[in-house]
Formats: sequence, structure tokens, C-alpha cells
Amino acid sequence: MADQDFMRLALEQAQYAWDLGEVPVGAVVVKDGEVIACGYNQPIGKHDPSAHAEIVALRAAAAKLGNYRLPGCELYVTLEPCLMCSGAMMHARLSRVVFGASDPKTGVCGSLMNLFEHNQLNHHTSVAGGVLGEQCGAMLKSFFAARRAAASAARRAASDALAAPDAEAG
Ligand SMILES: [Zn+2]
Repeated sequence: MADQDFMRLALEQAQYAWDLGEVPVGAVVVKDGEVIACGYNQPIGKHDPSAHAEIVALRAAAAKLGNYRLPGCELYVTLEPCLMCSGAMMHARLSRVVFGASDPKTGVCGSLMNLFEHNQLNHHTSVAGGVLGEQCGAMLKSFFAARRAAASAARRAASDALAAPDAEAG
């Protein structure tokens, strides 16, 4: 399978996050051309600030292989990884990370900085970005647009109720 095919599977994972009201980011871990683990963003539901898609997928992959290191593995994720996730990938000695959309707010694989190009930190992991970048970015944009629309509809409903309390009560 090509990078795009694995990224499509990561997008499917992102949809699971959306369905739970979480920011839609998804990830899969691939070894020898096969998906061995997947994960999606779920920090709110899990009450866990570390429950980003990449960490969930790395944990599942490590458990499956019975090894805290993941040499020879590639991780596909729909959004450029943050500092925490990039650190975890380096500790796992992941071979390669492939991301979709860039994240100008928290991405450290080229946006805010590129942690992976620091030789003092990273000897193991290569990075590729922009795979299905438009689709990955579009999903996030649609999610935030839907969330804003829902919030403004709720505000309108609340102000309508205040303007006409009798109608609400009657
Ligand atoms: Zn992260």
C-alpha cells in the first residue's frame, strides 16, 4: 500500500474521534506493510491530556509487539504531530512518521520548528508531510466550522428565550 492508502485509514480513525465530539485526528502504525495498531484523538472523553491519536496508536503498537521500542515501524497521522507526540516517537525509535495537514499552532515537524532535524535528539525517525494534506485539513476545518455553528445556534436560542420568556414558559 502507498502512503495515501495508509493515510486514508488514519482519516477513518479521525472520523471516530469526530463521532465522539473530539477534534478529529487519527493515526495508524504500520510494520512490514501492514497496519498493526491504530488510534484516534480522545483526551476529553478519557480525561487524559496525553490521549492524542499518535500516543494511543503507539501504545497499542508497543503492546502488540511486546516491545517499548518500535524500530521498523511507520506512523501515519492526519495532523502534524505536537511536541509530546514527537518526543514519544523518538523514544520509541520509530522509523518514519508521515503526516497529513500541517498544524501552525502546535506542529513541531516543520511548522513551529522541526524537532526531528535536531541530531542531538533524533537518530532514528524520518519525517514526511503533506500526504492527503488537503483532505486531512478539510476534515478539521469542517469540524471546527460545525462546532462554531452549533455554538452560535445555542447562543441564538438562549437569547430568543430571554427575549420571550412567556413563550418559553407557555
Ligand atoms: Zn500530540
